[in-house]
Amino acid sequence: MGQNCTYVLPTPAIPFSNDDYSKYSQKYAGEIELYLEKDIAGLPSKNLKDYKQAYQRRSEFILGLVKEEHFLVEDGLTEKLNELVVKILDANEIREKERLRFLISRSGIPNAFTTGDGTIVVNLGLISRLQNWEQLAFVFCHELAHHQMNHVNESIDKRITLTNSDEFKKKVKASKRGEIRANQELTSFLEDNVLSFAQHSRNAELETDALGFDLFLKAGFDKSNAISLLRILDEIDEPKYELPSLDSVFNFPSYPWKPEWGVSHLSGLSLVKLSKEEQEKYSTHPQIEERLEQLIEKGAEVKEGIPVEICEDTPIYDLEILEHYYEGYKEFEAFILGLQLAQLNPKNEYVQAVVGNCLVEFSLARKEHRYSNLVPLPGRLLNETENAVATFLDNLSLTDLKEISNAYIERHGLLNHDDDLSVELKNKLKQLKEKK
Ligand SMILES: [Zn+2]
Repeated sequence: MGQNCTYVLPTPAIPFSNDDYSKYSQKYAGEIELYLEKDIAGLPSKNLKDYKQAYQRRSEFILGLVKEEHFLVEDGLTEKLNELVVKILDANEIREKERLRFLISRSGIPNAFTTGDGTIVVNLGLISRLQNWEQLAFVFCHELAHHQMNHVNESIDKRITLTNSDEFKKKVKASKRGEIRANQELTSFLEDNVLSFAQHSRNAELETDALGFDLFLKAGFDKSNAISLLRILDEIDEPKYELPSLDSVFNFPSYPWKPEWGVSHLSGLSLVKLSKEEQEKYSTHPQIEERLEQLIEKGAEVKEGIPVEICEDTPIYDLEILEHYYEGYKEFEAFILGLQLAQLNPKNEYVQAVVGNCLVEFSLARKEHRYSNLVPLPGRLLNETENAVATFLDNLSLTDLKEISNAYIERHGLLNHDDDLSVELKNKLKQLKEKK
């Protein structure tokens, strides 16, 4: 990331605890259901069934996340969030303020979104890439602008109107009768219209930035932080941390690194990435360049040396993401992030315990023939880091996996504790020894 930032991961750091979660999950669920009822009562009678379904699905989606403890409650970060939100809402006229709900999700995907029912979500994966709080404020202002212009409900509206149009129904009917040409026609009709929605969203993104920027300025934030946020988004596909060299992490006196573990068996062709056009065809985010230009036109300055007040501490958020991956059975993602964080501080016991548990889980999965559910095959759908790790794991035999796990556990003293992860590790090791 353009700015230099030293990341710090303290030794005793562990993920946040969510002791009061049930209190909040009840509150959120109550609000979500209340507004769903209210929204359904106000729906148009035409195509009512479709609207109802769309609104219900949306609520189910958010309720599901709430129930699965996707969100942070009552910690330093949510306090900071509330401070920013109050500042923005106090300075601006926002429609239906009372239904707004700002949530921080533990997801590692660098994203933020609005669901159209008043829920605005920012993922930790995005916060962990930020340098200062005002950048987070701009993310909120952008999402708030989507809410203000009712974009999500409008796009539900458009989709339902389209799929209920006579032209669309006629094409579906023809295609059901098995006419090949009609089928092609339906596909191209859909493509044209879906694309024009996407294109509408491209313009909508610019419009959203423009309004979001106004909200941001009225709340008294520094213009240059809107610019610096867009610059971060521009580089968001670049990895935050380097992957440590596997041949040193997994080289043990008792079981030395074998060069063939690092050899990729992929041909050049299977690594060809999606083209820029392919990626952009359905993209709802216009190129960041365009968005930057617009903000500069609106008077945002490009300042050097913007504040990096939170940069240093962001590995704490990555620790939380690590827990979310691991507890959510995403061992492959947890393993990669664990290796990256272990590089920042090899003495962080939580991180090492996750890496050790993942290794034993991979061994168990290999033994029980469910490895392919856990670790993806190397290929073009993975990024460079994922490919390096998937290739390494793919090259290991069950014996290699077991030996490496044991050596890693030994090196980091992972059996010398009695916390949850150590207990889990001991149980897994027992399972691994048992004959099937
Ligand atoms: Zn947007």
